[in-house]
Amino acid sequence: MNLRAQIEALESLATLDASLAKLEAELRGEGERLSDKKSQLKKLDERFESTRASVGDMDRTRGELLQDARQMSVQMERSREKLARCRTERELNATQREIEELRKLYRDRELEIEKINGLAEQARSEMEKANQEREVLTTDMAKDDASATRLDSLETAVSAEREKRKELVKAVPPALYRRYEMIRKRRGSALAWTFQGTCSACHISLSPMAFQRLRRGEDFDQCPSCQRILYYRESNPADAGSSDATSSSSSADPGDTAGNETDS
Ligand SMILES: [Zn+2]
Repeated sequence: MNLRAQIEALESLATLDASLAKLEAELRGEGERLSDKKSQLKKLDERFESTRASVGDMDRTRGELLQDARQMSVQMERSREKLARCRTERELNATQREIEELRKLYRDRELEIEKINGLAEQARSEMEKANQEREVLTTDMAKDDASATRLDSLETAVSAEREKRKELVKAVPPALYRRYEMIRKRRGSALAWTFQGTCSACHISLSPMAFQRLRRGEDFDQCPSCQRILYYRESNPADAGSSDATSSSSSADPGDTAGNETDS
């Protein structure tokens, strides 16, 4: 397999890898967005349920307090009747104390009921709020059916690209592919070229000797700075207007190339 063919195989692979990486990132983002909403919904459901449970508890407690209060008022009625039948001053005082005590207990129950009413009202409005939020989210998620479709089509696109990749990999000699993968995993991209003596990815200047060796087109080289697989191009593809996936995302100023190790 001559070098030209290997370069072409690597170039196709690098172009595909760049678009695949973009798709995979998009897919991850979309999936996270959806599962975020699902977990938000679950939290709202839990909040709603636990508030409802505590409202139930409060209703029960209030029922008990009301019953207590009713009993006390019955007892008070009886004590008042007793008051009329009292013969001695001592009896009278004791019954009055009894009534006073019952009134105080009755008042305590009333206060507790008021407190519970306030809390229950607060809990009900919390429930309502959770319910509203849940409705908004559910409507939102129904609209997200479009987003689920988007997820599906992204998944399809990614698996199609992965299939295509398998074919492209077959065209690359195994040893070269292993080197490519090792660099790609570390750097995000693995292929760079040189046109006038600088690395297209990290923009470092190559030594004249290394550049001449590449120009002779006998073999690949490796960039001394970013370690990407390097090859020689007879023209600058940027001038030809073609987009190039192998010229990395490095944003180093192309004018400042001498000894520039921005991609270390
Ligand atoms: Zn480089």
